[in-house]
Amino acid sequence: MIEGQYYPGPLGFRIISQEVDFTLMIGGSDPIEFNAILNRLMEIFGAFTISNQGFTIPALQRHSRDAITRIIEILKSVKNKQLRNNLVSMKQSFGKIEIDEYYFVFPLCFSIDSNEHLNIEKELAYINNSGTFFNESELDQYFFKILDSYNIKAYGHRETIIGNKGKRTCRFCGKKYPKTCFKETAHSFPEGIGNKLITTRDECDTCNHIYNDKYDAHFSRLHQVSMAAHEVRGKSGVPKIESETISLENVNGRLLLVDKTNAINSFDNQPDSIKINVIPGFSNRDLYKALCRYAINVMHNDELSNFSDTIKWINNELPFTLLPSIFLNTKMPFQIDPAIALYLRKNNDESLPYAVCEFKFLHFLYAFIVPKNDKEAIYFSDASNFETFFKFFKHYTELYKNFQKITPDDSLVRLTYFFKKHEAQP
Ligand SMILES: [Zn+2]
Repeated sequence: MIEGQYYPGPLGFRIISQEVDFTLMIGGSDPIEFNAILNRLMEIFGAFTISNQGFTIPALQRHSRDAITRIIEILKSVKNKQLRNNLVSMKQSFGKIEIDEYYFVFPLCFSIDSNEHLNIEKELAYINNSGTFFNESELDQYFFKILDSYNIKAYGHRETIIGNKGKRTCRFCGKKYPKTCFKETAHSFPEGIGNKLITTRDECDTCNHIYNDKYDAHFSRLHQVSMAAHEVRGKSGVPKIESETISLENVNGRLLLVDKTNAINSFDNQPDSIKINVIPGFSNRDLYKALCRYAINVMHNDELSNFSDTIKWINNELPFTLLPSIFLNTKMPFQIDPAIALYLRKNNDESLPYAVCEFKFLHFLYAFIVPKNDKEAIYFSDASNFETFFKFFKHYTELYKNFQKITPDDSLVRLTYFFKKHEAQP
């Protein structure tokens, strides 16, 4: 709780979210204007005692579109220049907080040392990510050490539109309207694996089509056997798998294999076990590019400048000499909605990667470094440097066992599914 008093000001607040830490000063020479503005600000923070003596507001806040609308409204009526500037910077900082994200607001007189600041960040990381990616005991056991070095942002399970509404710029070709257009809905990761919730304003129609043909269509095909087995709807319903020799489809909750070369074509003569190799036709390196693109799609705008080489690499405009391995776990607890967690390092310890991403859906978890540039990619392709990172992210070995290592080379991506009768495990 914060307790504060009205005029004489100025009054200061410190607002801490996972992305922003800013101070809002409210002052001015006109007490009537000051009190009016303060009242309206307190409404944004849901103050529950507003009287001439003071106010009380909850320290833990949840951001909303309504808050931004209200600040814009307040700004229209502010005459004092200093106060106006302060509110403009408040509006800018608020723009960096995701809608529905939790943040804290403290009075400025309330001193927060670095240890307390760390606890606040951990608490926010927990509140904002729980139910999306981690549970509380996992955070306690595995993540608190990671949170000393990384900010974690997770998306999934709730509808999110990434990017600015007003000034849409494609993250991948750098073009704006009218040099390119943004008529179609661009998904941050493919709709073909069941993503209905996370979309982006920052990918133009041209790039969306190019990436779909080059990466996403293959990526979706790679996982469609699992989607068919679990009746997960993709872009056009639950996928049916068809090749020259077999077809596989979900019929009323049961997986039916039709072997076109043998006489297996009904539920009565299904084999006891089925092994299916899926080779969609893109390379392991392209798989890596597809994954890194999903990470870039969910990043905050301010981070993009750190990844300009990565974007060139995804666009085949710049080669990376060597690449670190991708980890794939195919035995995760099942979840329908894809979720992505992005770890961004907040200190200068270059023995750890700047960006690490985890991407979970169905039974799959991909964990990978998002290299900032060739230098970082080379550094983490070295086995012992990679080992340092892998040990630091200790949940990979202790929580998410059974990782397969994929070397991002030119060979074609291949995934082998193995089904026993009436079971559905990749
Ligand atoms: Zn583009």
